[in-house]
Amino acid sequence: MNDIAHNLAQVRDKILSAAARCGRDSEEVTLLAVSKTKPASAIEEAIAAGQRAFGENYVQEGVDKIRYFQEAGHRDLQWHFIGPLQSNKSRLVAEHFDWCHTVDRLKIATRLSEQRPADKPPLNVLIQINISDEQSKSGIPLASLDALAAEIVELPGIQLRGLMAIPAPETEYERQFAVARQMAVAFAELKTRYPTVDTLSLGMSDDMDAAIAAGSTMVRIGTAIFGARDYTKNKGN
Ligand SMILES: *Cc1c(COP(=O)(O)O)cnc(C)c1O
Repeated sequence: MNDIAHNLAQVRDKILSAAARCGRDSEEVTLLAVSKTKPASAIEEAIAAGQRAFGENYVQEGVDKIRYFQEAGHRDLQWHFIGPLQSNKSRLVAEHFDWCHTVDRLKIATRLSEQRPADKPPLNVLIQINISDEQSKSGIPLASLDALAAEIVELPGIQLRGLMAIPAPETEYERQFAVARQMAVAFAELKTRYPTVDTLSLGMSDDMDAAIAAGSTMVRIGTAIFGARDYTKNKGN
């Protein structure tokens, strides 16, 4: 087995045991392979190993990969935009991606809705929550969620599917779980109000177990699948 296939199998195993430990069905947890900065050849290896959902952080890089794989005849891949989104890049996301995890203001949501091509299904969106309340990170505080969600569900070109967060790094399981739990409670509440809500994007390599125990339905894993990233080749697109 090559490295990426081997790594993927290991990550899937970890998801399986994390789900088993808390009595959840591992089918409830989608693995998003974060392929930012990685070449198409690495993504091809992951596809060959059965992976279909990929996450990208940089708009232009993501669009290039989406086009490449479309031209190569892949029709069943799912592309998730998971990076910070500026207004001037929203059109490319609306036109090419299937999901956007980082919606944190009405202006961006409105643009994505207006710019979504009419021949495509609505863009799936997650509202990003700034759960650790860090000045530097994007996302809205939980207190602002109800108001933004109510506005987003009125937009025809996008569909609200749930919540996403990037918690501050925390080494202790109990603390990871406490933060993940706050997200899970907000997610459960949102779900009761909007039937389209089914996705909690939470958990990376270091806090995946706690996120799954708390109720995450989508974990975002990069390095453990594709290896360390080289950022010198990729700047600011
Ligand atoms: C890069 C990134 C990941 C994956 O991080 P790894 O540490 O490589 O697993 C997950 N989520 C987001 C939002 C990211 O930007």
